[in-house]
Amino acid sequence: MFILRLLLIFFLTYLTFRVLKIILSFPPKKQEDSVSFPKNSNILEDEMVKDPICNTYITKKGAITTRMNGKTFYFCSKECREKFMERG
Ligand SMILES: [Zn+2]
Repeated sequence: MFILRLLLIFFLTYLTFRVLKIILSFPPKKQEDSVSFPKNSNILEDEMVKDPICNTYITKKGAITTRMNGKTFYFCSKECREKFMERG
């Protein structure tokens, strides 16, 4: 019985060490995630913009865009973009 207990204690110590190692390895990874740039750009892409033709609000990510005189315009559909191009 004594040997079994020793083995159990040894096993538990080993497990604790493994768990501690995993826990200690997590904080640096979390910091990297919070600073990562793709997440920030996703926030920008989800920004709401107004369609100048039908006044609908759409996300930059899902919008159809066109550049005119150095400005970017966002549209909900190709039809709206075509109307905008016809107007000039
Ligand atoms: Zn539209």
